[in-house]
Amino acid sequence: MGYKIIEIKVPTGYTDSELKQRIGKELHLADFTWQIENKSLDARKKNNIHWLLRVAVHGRSLGGNEPEPVESLEIEFKPRNRRVVIAGSGPAGFFAAFVLQKAGFDTILLERGAEVDKRARGIHQFEKTGQFSATANYAFGEGGAGTFSDGKLTSRSKHISRERDFFISSYIRAGAPAEIRYMAYPHVGSDNLRVVVKNLRDSYLQMGGEIRFETTLSDLVVEAGRVKEAIAGDESLAAEYFIVAPGHSAYETYRMLMRRGVSFRTKNFAIGCRAEHRQEEINRSQWGIGQLNGVRAAEYRLTSEADGKHSVYSFCMCPGGMVVPAATYSHLNIVNGMSNYRRNGKFANAGCVAGIHPDQLAGHPVSPLEALQWLEDLEHSFFEFSGGYRAPFCTISDFISGTEPRSIPETSYPLGLKPAPLWTMFPGVVTDALREGLKDFEHRLHGYSKGILLGLESKTSSPIQVLREKNGLCTGFENLFLAGEGSGYAGGIVSSAADGIKIAMQMVER
Ligand SMILES: Cc1cc2nc3c(=O)[nH]c(=O)nc-3n(C[C@H](O)[C@H](O)[C@H](O)COP(=O)(O)OP(=O)(O)OC[C@H]3O[C@@H](n4cnc5c(N)ncnc54)[C@H](O)[C@@H]3O)c2cc1C
Repeated sequence: MGYKIIEIKVPTGYTDSELKQRIGKELHLADFTWQIENKSLDARKKNNIHWLLRVAVHGRSLGGNEPEPVESLEIEFKPRNRRVVIAGSGPAGFFAAFVLQKAGFDTILLERGAEVDKRARGIHQFEKTGQFSATANYAFGEGGAGTFSDGKLTSRSKHISRERDFFISSYIRAGAPAEIRYMAYPHVGSDNLRVVVKNLRDSYLQMGGEIRFETTLSDLVVEAGRVKEAIAGDESLAAEYFIVAPGHSAYETYRMLMRRGVSFRTKNFAIGCRAEHRQEEINRSQWGIGQLNGVRAAEYRLTSEADGKHSVYSFCMCPGGMVVPAATYSHLNIVNGMSNYRRNGKFANAGCVAGIHPDQLAGHPVSPLEALQWLEDLEHSFFEFSGGYRAPFCTISDFISGTEPRSIPETSYPLGLKPAPLWTMFPGVVTDALREGLKDFEHRLHGYSKGILLGLESKTSSPIQVLREKNGLCTGFENLFLAGEGSGYAGGIVSSAADGIKIAMQMVER
């Protein structure tokens, strides 16, 4: 069977039979099969928006040889008689447990939050009544922080092709749309993610894995650089290896790790707001029209170095989505974004954040512990300002001009808005950078300044990073790994899962 890769442009509303006809015509073939390898929207010219497809075509009369197979993860099963305790069922912890269990380790997965359906009910209740649940919120619970998200699966991490391939295949088997394999900017959607998380859990349990929900890793018993036991509730769990994958919101877990001798350093991170616009405005800016046949909703990615010192950028855009109350503890007020697969909501939202180092914020060098405290205090100040979980807001033009908002606009945010002088609620260095960035964004995306800003967006990445060895072990420890976003080496669903998989494979291949 011959094989050829071709690149073709098709109209946005193309059908499969039209695509087949195009391929046949292009290659003068009647009998062939094909597979899309990459699909991206070309909207550079508003009067000629189309999909760009890279298609692999197989047919007897084609000359080329089959392509080299993608390098995949080889997980050999053998009974290993070794127990591993993993804390955190987000992408990093879950995929570490999944790979280890598949390889024949005996794994126990501890998750401080609830299983996904109970978690969904807790979130629903919070959004209806404002009653926060410590075990069922946007950060904590089965599947981790990204379960109720847009489920974007883009990643800028390099050298993770094996892990990414394993992750994508596992997601598709668990019910994610098959297009995530080839879309240039794939997303799963919050509605699909819940199903995926549940199906993955079933596969893990079928392999003999064990999960304990609403069970927090509260301490580690350490002797001479070796963790002997994990403390969770009344139980002490002894094991050969321990993987902690708590995300970057679990402040008391970070502090416990520091008390037990795990070393961290501070690093750059980002803070700012969520910008919300009417989706139709974004569609018009990007496409010149309000709707485009065959494309769900327009996206944007913006970056600016307008003040010459700090980068300001859009982050985690959720087209057709909603801004969500993503408080991680009852005394904090944080916002984030999510959307369903169809991205058919009235609004678009995205983080608008300034990159910064904790030392710059404090005006002097700070320790990792101080950096965490600074961030928690900022999140608390937003809670204090609104007296709960209403989101402090102003319009983008208000932020630029320093004018107090006068009326409350329509929003997707479920717990209400509180007019706020947001520009006074950040350190001056952040406000100045955001202001310049926002002005620049208006030049790059016409109509951007018609949107509103909701605070606080503080969870783009961790301000601290663990000190760890090449094999992933925490420096100074023989059997303790810190994986995923909480380690400070990953950010986002794919790179966090890849980090968990890499750490598991280190143990499998030892
Ligand atoms: C609303 C929202 C939308 C997002 N959208 C996207 C997106 O579209 N695309 C994307 O790539 N990223 C997105 N992110 C970020 C993404 O979710 C994270 O980068 C990713 O989930 C990090 O994976 P992780 O496994 O390292 O940590 P997490 O997913 O944070 O998981 C950590 C888990 O550990 C548990 N835990 C914490 N401490 C303990 C303890 N002591 N004991 C037991 N369990 C503990 C927590 O309950 C949590 O379930 C979003 C995040 C949020 C909050």
